Amino acid sequence: MNEMEINEMIIKCPVCSVEGVAKSIMKEIEIPHFGKVLETTIQCPECGFKHSDVIALEQNDPAKYTIEINKNNLSIRVVRSQSATVLIPEIGIKVEPGPKSEGYVTNVEGILTRFEDAVKKALKLFDDDTSQSNGKKTLNEIQELKKGNETATLIILDPFGQSNIVSDSVEISEIPEEELHTLKTGFSHIEE
Ligand SMILES: [Zn+2]
Repeated sequence: MNEMEINEMIIKCPVCSVEGVAKSIMKEIEIPHFGKVLETTIQCPECGFKHSDVIALEQNDPAKYTIEINKNNLSIRVVRSQSATVLIPEIGIKVEPGPKSEGYVTNVEGILTRFEDAVKKALKLFDDDTSQSNGKKTLNEIQELKKGNETATLIILDPFGQSNIVSDSVEISEIPEEELHTLKTGFSHIEE
């Protein structure tokens, strides 16, 4: 992954509207076998607002990307746009886009780490027995996947074709019409 160009600007914060402190950083990243993506991050030291997203400069069609998570696939590059749904059906975990969802460039292991962090956060919030035992079971399953001891399926659904799993072994399929309608796009739901 080569970072091509970095562009920094001081902008008016979109959240607290304070002028002259929020920083917008735009990075053009060249991803081999995929193309260029533009990563934008906005950080405001005044109110603490932080948001990042990625935009693929070469647009794809809406697509469903499926890959097996196993010990050989952990370092495969993943581009998740802010409008993509990410799921691992075997462990019942799913991230749907919401107004606060972020786009990012990572790898399969990085996706697992994000899920791991989300489950740890949930374990702190919900202290009833059922939530705790379900949460711990899920956490253990994610950690086994990260160690390469187990296999599961990683699916990314992107109605705008901005995401990708960059590998020869990825299976790319169309999103069936009825599934496309049920996908959240991040514009009207709060999920994250
Ligand atoms: Zn602000």
